[in-house]
Amino acid sequence: MTEPVVLPDFNSFGDQALKGLESPEEATAATQALLKEDRNSGEPTVSNPGECHLTLERGVCREGTWYRDAEVKELTGADEEAIAAAGSSSYRVFETLLLRGVRTVGAEFMNRKLASELLIGDREFLVMAIRRATFGNDLEFEELPCPHCEELVDLTVPLDAIPFTHLDHPEQTEYDVPLRRGAVAVVRLPTGDDQAAVLAIKDGNAAKQDSEILGRCVLRVRDADGTVTRRPPATSLSMSDRKAILKFLADTQPGPRYGDFSFTHDTCGKEVPLPISLAVLFRGM
Ligand SMILES: [Zn+2]
Repeated sequence: MTEPVVLPDFNSFGDQALKGLESPEEATAATQALLKEDRNSGEPTVSNPGECHLTLERGVCREGTWYRDAEVKELTGADEEAIAAAGSSSYRVFETLLLRGVRTVGAEFMNRKLASELLIGDREFLVMAIRRATFGNDLEFEELPCPHCEELVDLTVPLDAIPFTHLDHPEQTEYDVPLRRGAVAVVRLPTGDDQAAVLAIKDGNAAKQDSEILGRCVLRVRDADGTVTRRPPATSLSMSDRKAILKFLADTQPGPRYGDFSFTHDTCGKEVPLPISLAVLFRGM
């Protein structure tokens, strides 16, 4: 048994990092305690590993053609060592998972540049596929205390049960977001590259991180009178417009919503939030 790899919470990146002022901690303290206990409750059962092909929501564009087919592989001991060597930086661990676990997107072998071009949601979907190829489709939980009735619950969560957002039009790369006073922001969805830039802001200043993502993803603002401002500085946008845009980016980003999973406890009939973190996905490592 090797030392467990320290994996980051999903809260530190992905769609959770982009909710800006909306950023609610949906999970109750009880659920957090429940998850902490769960980390020690055993390794995942390998039910059906080896399923390696998936179709991304957006994929990558090469010379006018979109490529969405991707192939992942089962992680090996060598990959596990590489992931452990990535240290405690959440972004580096996630990046290493992608570089080691994804074989191809379209006709290209996985590489850093390709990974940085993918939408955050496609990256998180790929990580789910790597998990499936390595440990199978089911997340097993044992003796989770229900936060409502305190009964201990054994639970099997198929990865497909995690809420998933699809893109209505996968090839649409620009979106209009209505702002106040009849203005419209034209935006694009954040990619791995944008995520890296946000996470590079180390002082934990959430407003600065919001400005970074807005500075990158707001392509132009069209005022009610037709005036177009290209690449407006994020700090010049009103707080309410910033919030509207960040909410749009978070809501529209496709892929798995790891933080939004919940189940109904049969005994008490109540809904139990159970946010799925990377540590839960890969707790066998
Ligand atoms: Zn209950």
